[in-house]
Amino acid sequence: MIAENVENICERIRNTCAKVGRNPNDVLFVAVSKTFSSDKVAQAVRSGVYDIGENFVQELTKKRNQLNDPRIRWHFVGHLQTNKMKYIAKFIHLIHSVENLRVAEEINKRAIAEGRTIDVLIEVNTSGEATKYGIEPAKTLEFVKSASQFPNVRVKGLMTIGPFLPNPEQSRPAFRLLRELKEKILSEGIEHVEMQHLSMGMTNDFEVAVEEGSTIVRLGTAIFGPRTKRTNPVTL
Ligand SMILES: *Cc1c(COP(=O)(O)O)cnc(C)c1O
Repeated sequence: MIAENVENICERIRNTCAKVGRNPNDVLFVAVSKTFSSDKVAQAVRSGVYDIGENFVQELTKKRNQLNDPRIRWHFVGHLQTNKMKYIAKFIHLIHSVENLRVAEEINKRAIAEGRTIDVLIEVNTSGEATKYGIEPAKTLEFVKSASQFPNVRVKGLMTIGPFLPNPEQSRPAFRLLRELKEKILSEGIEHVEMQHLSMGMTNDFEVAVEEGSTIVRLGTAIFGPRTKRTNPVTL
């Protein structure tokens, strides 16, 4: 089932890229496995998916220990608490969700302790929903400038979560806004800031996101099926 879903997702990404003249190799698909077992993640890996995303540090480290597979690149896509950073600093591949300077500072500190640079994306609240985390669009440039001062944190781009609306077309303005922000930040030429990534698009709206320039889509339901458990690690 997971293998078929992976095949189907890749085909949809290829078709969407063909439609807008993009190279499908420029779109990375991260399987977001929150609430699903390590066994399901192992199935995804067997289908060729090595980029795995989680929302909770505890759930991520548990699955990483169970799977013990060095091929997996672990992505953190949830709300990061400073006191949890130490558990993932050694190995995390990309943190998608930096949205305050205290967290950026902690990432920098832990990265220095591990003798590495940690790649991050800045989360932007493009839909203006009060329930969402993320930097206000108008404050993003200033935030990226501030975050770029931490030598062992490398800003690689922006991330957003589209509005949870039934029609994927309703996500387009949010994705377009993120792309425009990326272009604006790029034009500033900030030192240590690369901006090659736009992490946007989930199961419901990833094709629209790819049309708007997404380089990383984060898919849970499309690969693993519907989630039945609450997305809270203490209930796992
Ligand atoms: C759960 C989650 C996803 C995947 O959601 P689906 O709609 O199941 O594809 C992507 N990004 C983040 C930040 C998530 O929390």
